[in-house]
Amino acid sequence: MVRAPAVLTTFSFPTRYRPARSRVYTFGMPDQNFGSVDPAVAAALSHIVGPRHVRTTKAERVTYSKDGLTVHQRMPGIVVLPGTRDEVIAVVRLLAAHGVSFVPRGAGTGLSGGALAHEGAVLLVLTRLNRILDVDPKNRRATVEPGVVNAKLSAAAAPHGLLYAPDPSSQSACTIGGNVAENAGGPHCLKYGVTANHVLALEVVLADGQVVQLGSSGGEPWGPDLVGLFVGSEGNFGVVTRITVRLLPVPQAIRTLLADFGSVRTAGEAVSALIASGIVPAAMEMMDQSCIGAVEDSIYAAGYPRDAAAVLLVELDGRADASVAVEAASVETLLKSHGARSVKTAVDARERERLWLGRKKAFGAMGRLSRDLAVQDAVVPRSRLPDVLEAIGRIAQRYDLKVSNVFHAGDGNLHPNISFDGRVDGLRARVDAASGEMMAACIAAGGTITGEHGIGLDKLRYMPLIFGPDSLAAMLAVRRVFDPLERVNPGKVIPVHACREWAVAPSTRNAERGRRNGKAGSQPQDEARTRLEGSAFRLPASEFTE
Ligand SMILES: Cc1cc2nc3c(=O)[nH]c(=O)nc-3n(C[C@H](O)[C@H](O)[C@H](O)COP(=O)(O)OP(=O)(O)OC[C@H]3O[C@@H](n4cnc5c(N)ncnc54)[C@H](O)[C@@H]3O)c2cc1C
Repeated sequence: MVRAPAVLTTFSFPTRYRPARSRVYTFGMPDQNFGSVDPAVAAALSHIVGPRHVRTTKAERVTYSKDGLTVHQRMPGIVVLPGTRDEVIAVVRLLAAHGVSFVPRGAGTGLSGGALAHEGAVLLVLTRLNRILDVDPKNRRATVEPGVVNAKLSAAAAPHGLLYAPDPSSQSACTIGGNVAENAGGPHCLKYGVTANHVLALEVVLADGQVVQLGSSGGEPWGPDLVGLFVGSEGNFGVVTRITVRLLPVPQAIRTLLADFGSVRTAGEAVSALIASGIVPAAMEMMDQSCIGAVEDSIYAAGYPRDAAAVLLVELDGRADASVAVEAASVETLLKSHGARSVKTAVDARERERLWLGRKKAFGAMGRLSRDLAVQDAVVPRSRLPDVLEAIGRIAQRYDLKVSNVFHAGDGNLHPNISFDGRVDGLRARVDAASGEMMAACIAAGGTITGEHGIGLDKLRYMPLIFGPDSLAAMLAVRRVFDPLERVNPGKVIPVHACREWAVAPSTRNAERGRRNGKAGSQPQDEARTRLEGSAFRLPASEFTE
């Protein structure tokens, strides 16, 4: 049996990369304190959007100081809520003229600290741009403003027999603009693809206020794939103000199965076996016992078996009932032959909705377990899921932490969630260390540091484990094409300070790194793996906000 690598104990980054001590977590750079925004800017913003839509008091700004990953906090200098595309352009131009940094924000459901702005920056909230501009059933596409809530787009398309496929579990709140910026996934992205596969065209306001059109609403792009480049850029390249997306027909036939397993390993192995069989379910989600308990104790109770070590929620869909029924029968047989204790099929749409509501509200239900929740997000090769899940269990045990797993298993996506009470002395440090080790275990298994929640602030410290100096320098160079002065969402995604150094002489640094390792030109990812497998590695601690 392949075992997950042992978890790490010691490693320190070179002195110059060490994070500065500050209340807010930053990796590899001192916290960027640009001072407060000039009050004249607030007055000018009021002139553009109206005084009601500019928030300057501490009580107002604190509402926007966190996103869905509440372990991070930053107080924005000013919060501005434009109501139209023209107001966005005017705001961005004003900020450019004053050299003020800004952070685009949708609904703030992000889980990587990406939509937070520091004291010297303006938070540009796009939720008032919430119009569905066009639903074009003939061409199966829609054009929306960025603040449209994900679920509302599918609701608007439903009368035409269409839907918008990417369905993050936060779809009742998150916005399409935020989905584009994060390249959001969701349960049904296993079959239908993530946000990047559904965006046809974008209108983007660049940091200097220029307005550019990327892609083509006809779906036949020419030249370089700039839409592909922009989707997933985490608010680093500019503000999306219009989005044209593909719509798909609502499936005519659906079967939803709930399989119950006596061990997490067996459930993980069944996931691999099902995909290896060639069947691609519309969705395949896993929840472990702790998650099941949280859901069943909540108002979202879905009838999941409490004594199961894990359940798989598998959905199959298609055009014809008969073929979907045949496929569902094959899946049931396969899951049983791979250890499922029972497989139940939802009898009607109501039961199906109940099963899905439990899954989609699982994060919320975990709020019952403790005061704080650190949500992790990684991806591993599907075949390594059982090993990595066991490794995560061992880490949780060693740190004496409560971890609940709920994730898009079919994609090899993982969300170990640590419930804790941040008021308990020393607990945050333990959560932080355990999170780092979990992430390291995923990297060591050949995975990567985010499946869908993005890097934001939270994952900055892991970037050098995955990308070499040359790759980080290339990312920075691309960012500067869109935003030469790095004023949009500064300090996110790329560990800027380190990268700036690398950008000077990347090859030399790479070679030095190789020499230190006794190998010419080796990549940090290899280094990380070597260190991980040698059990001699510790990630630098982040600093969760007090
Ligand atoms: C309960 C729960 C479940 C979740 N489930 C999933 C899931 O299944 N799949 C998944 O992928 N994610 C999931 N998420 C994470 C989150 O909902 C997604 O990342 C979502 O795409 C964020 O959208 P938002 O509108 O809240 O964006 P925000 O959190 O406001 O912002 C996220 C990022 O997008 C940028 N941004 C926002 N709007 C714009 C714009 N108009 N132009 C440029 N940049 C912009 C911000 O700067 C920031 O970097 C979940 C979150 C929660 C709380």
